[in-house]
Amino acid sequence: MVECESLVRIFRTGTRAGDGVEVQALQGLDLTVREGELTALVGASGSGKSTLLGILAGLDTPSAGTARVAGTDVGGLKRRERTAYRRRTVGTVRQQAASNLLPYLTARENVQLPMGYAAVPRRRRAARAVELLGLMGIAGAADRTPAALSGGEQQRVAIAVALANGPRLLLADEPTGELDTATSEEIFAALRTANAELGTTVLIVTHDALVADQVRRTVRIRDGRTSTEVLRHTAGPGPGSPLSGEEYTVLDRVGRLQLPREFTESLGLAHRVRLVLAHDHIELWPDRPRPPDAPATTGEGEGD
Ligand code: ADP
Ligand code: MG
Repeated sequence: MVECESLVRIFRTGTRAGDGVEVQALQGLDLTVREGELTALVGASGSGKSTLLGILAGLDTPSAGTARVAGTDVGGLKRRERTAYRRRTVGTVRQQAASNLLPYLTARENVQLPMGYAAVPRRRRAARAVELLGLMGIAGAADRTPAALSGGEQQRVAIAVALANGPRLLLADEPTGELDTATSEEIFAALRTANAELGTTVLIVTHDALVADQVRRTVRIRDGRTSTEVLRHTAGPGPGSPLSGEEYTVLDRVGRLQLPREFTESLGLAHRVRLVLAHDHIELWPDRPRPPDAPATTGEGEGD
């Protein structure tokens, strides 16, 4: 559903030639999200998360590299294609719950609005709005304006708005940024429901590392690049089973990978590591004398 390859976005600030400052917000980012997945992208403030979502949402274009969403090269869209893409292929939820909604419309009217732009028949609009608000667990709020809703309710309406035209991909940028922990969990539950019930692929972006407890797949972004990811599997049967996590890292097309800093620091790995190819895995050792039981190796000293 999402395929980003060596994505670069450089912002130039300053007005006259020569006095500009360049910020490289994305520095060769690779990311793959499969259809139907729910993924969290976690990174510190300034790591390039919103820049990435802006590109995936069709609001911004990359300086280099490619971003494909549902088979569409979003960097290469013409103006009219871009409008259609933003209306039908992606839905977005922003951090400020209130900014996702028009204050003088009720929740139901807010959800109906984007369907009007997509020329959905009026009667169908009303039914779908009620259905989506029900799915988000806020059917009772349909006739209230945003001012009469809590922050968490507003954000659930905002998710319903984003889902109104049945997007293939739902992008949520810090959707729980202004909410307390209990309310945040409700928002994650709502996003999981959208994912499970409607089959929408969901990409959530957050600086909150605790989100890893809420989703199966967490990808870490650092300095405009994706680094490691954690996949969680239920340890036992049933939905209440605890999740156990396994750490993964991205292997790019030329075979480079980035090791988590906790791993390299705990073993004092730096500059050079020793590689051993086993029949079904690769060993990576500190660059120190070989342990006595280590096998005579193939692969050592080869390459750069
Ligand atoms: P995040 O969402 O992870 O906090 P952003 O994607 O917003 O990070 O920003 C990444 C970097 O790009 C930051 O250094 C930010 O200051 C810079 N940046 C983002 N948007 C712009 C812009 N429109 N003009 C100049 N610099 C920008
Ligand atoms: Mg941001």
